[in-house]
Amino acid sequence: MKSYDVCECGAPLRLMERPTPKPAGTEVLLKVVAAGVCHSDLHIWDGYYDLGGGKRLKLSDRGVKLPLTMGHENVGEIVAVGPDAAGVKVGQRMLVHPWLGCGECALCRRGDEHFCRTPFSIGVFRAGGYADHLLVPHPRYLFDIGNIPAHQAAPLACSGITTYGALKKVGLSLREEPVVIIGAGGLGLMCLSLHKAMGGKGAIVVDIDPVKREAAKKAGAQSTIDAAAPDAAKQIIAATNGGAWAVIDLVGASLTVQLGLDSLVKGGKIIIVGLFGGDITVPTPSFPLRAMTIQGSYVGSLTEMAELLDLVRRKGVPDLPVATRPLAAVNDALNELKAGKVIGRLVLTPAE
Ligand SMILES: [Zn+2]
Ligand SMILES: [Zn+2]
Repeated sequence: MKSYDVCECGAPLRLMERPTPKPAGTEVLLKVVAAGVCHSDLHIWDGYYDLGGGKRLKLSDRGVKLPLTMGHENVGEIVAVGPDAAGVKVGQRMLVHPWLGCGECALCRRGDEHFCRTPFSIGVFRAGGYADHLLVPHPRYLFDIGNIPAHQAAPLACSGITTYGALKKVGLSLREEPVVIIGAGGLGLMCLSLHKAMGGKGAIVVDIDPVKREAAKKAGAQSTIDAAAPDAAKQIIAATNGGAWAVIDLVGASLTVQLGLDSLVKGGKIIIVGLFGGDITVPTPSFPLRAMTIQGSYVGSLTEMAELLDLVRRKGVPDLPVATRPLAAVNDALNELKAGKVIGRLVLTPAE
């Protein structure tokens, strides 16, 4: 099998060849049909997250080992199944849930594998889909996509589940008050589309890039606001009739989190999803006096993945611009994303 691997942090991915694995036990082997290029791949590629103040969280300290085949938004066609892999058969087209845990601890057993302290996420801690084949350890991570086009289903594995998980945390105000979405990249447009599908009241999208704001407007945003405007918080407060009940920050930079906090109404909540990096200082009395919540949201559970696919089956595939590229163009795709030139999602098509 062929894969493109990170062999050195930040250096171009290298073409590698290995024997194609044979699935044993409960394992399932897939031919990769679609592999989304996600913004978090840029952090994995760099090898660190920015913690602000010059500090870095190194991925090697979290157990990420090189060479690594990245790619955690995968759809594949089953080509071989292990003798104990029940309920799946050759030829099925499956969305791969990549947020694997150990499968045995209390967290994993209650369905929160994505919070497991020994994560085995596909494309992060074990080989992902920037390859022609992908080995998945158990059929429970596979979801039949039926007739959803593979390149549109693939982004559901990260971009989809991440924004779905964040939107669920908004709670009851989702259907009654507009939600503020910071960041109108691939994640933002996915969030907007799922927000609509979930019966959301309206979305105000905030971004510094006029091209991305325009894309958000086209995708159905109620209004858009320039994050770089000196009165951006004031504009958000006006657009939400006195302050936001929920802000979903898909960027996660010092400035965006601060903007989100400044825009909240009393009792409001900011849900931080983005990993851009930075830090903020919050006066502690603000928490009780403004009754505010700062919550982090990290991908989603197997149950949420099933819910998301059910939502997509009922309401249609998220209306997200998707462009496809051959597997061999993976380095160009990553560089395009790094340069901020991508509207929507780039998806590699290794099977073509
Ligand atoms: Zn576990
Ligand atoms: Zn991702």
